[in-house]
Amino acid sequence: MAILFAANWKMHHGPEQAATFARAFKELTFPQPTRSIWFFPPATSIRTLALELDERPDVAIGAQDVHWEPSGAYTGALSIPLAQEAGATVALVGHSERRHLFGETDEETGRKVAALLDGGMRPLLCVGELADQRERGETEAVVRRQLDAGLAGVAEEDLPRVVIAYEPVWAIGTGKNATPDDAASVHAFLRSLVVDRGGPEDIAILYGGSVKPGNVLSFLVEDEIDGVLVGGASLTPESWTEIVGVGGGAAA
Ligand code: PEP
Repeated sequence: MAILFAANWKMHHGPEQAATFARAFKELTFPQPTRSIWFFPPATSIRTLALELDERPDVAIGAQDVHWEPSGAYTGALSIPLAQEAGATVALVGHSERRHLFGETDEETGRKVAALLDGGMRPLLCVGELADQRERGETEAVVRRQLDAGLAGVAEEDLPRVVIAYEPVWAIGTGKNATPDDAASVHAFLRSLVVDRGGPEDIAILYGGSVKPGNVLSFLVEDEIDGVLVGGASLTPESWTEIVGVGGGAAA
């Protein structure tokens, strides 16, 4: 299976910066069968990136969040058809910033995952525990609850289209990370839960949380870790190219 590298730009890079980034990225990398690269820019930059990277078969563009309703009076929200019209084929769901800063509930993540699959997009469902939950030994209980809710409306035959990211919340944007070994054991647990639901053993499970050029390989050498979801270190073409280069040759 190709290694999946996902870049979460959060609230950075409008259309102009996204276009500049894409041009540098195209000069620095070329498609490799060993890796897939997903970009999650702000909604206003989806179209630009989709057009700039249209000829890259290794790249997909995604939304950072979607609403489950296809249209209607939902001020500020992005529907799945609107994201698709802009060029998105994948979407993050349940990122910890949506859950903990914006109050997204487990039930809402489930509705979003199901709506994305119905609409023909692939969800990247994020799960992860807070620092105090980890200290209390609740990591498995928390990620199990989030996974169960996230996949509640997913038919068995659609499970292969889901990607999961394990992102311990205390490791996001903090410079701290789970040890590769600790992350791998949570991944193995998540994989067993997916298999129990009738899903594939080889479902892609990414690790996220302060991944950088200097530590990405230590995660990817773990059999259980199928890729990485990267925030801060995905924001410059140089750093991002170094990270994806681990998946098979970066220089053009
Ligand atoms: C993220 O936003 O999903 C993330 C993992 O951020 P960072 O790499 O900056 O910790």
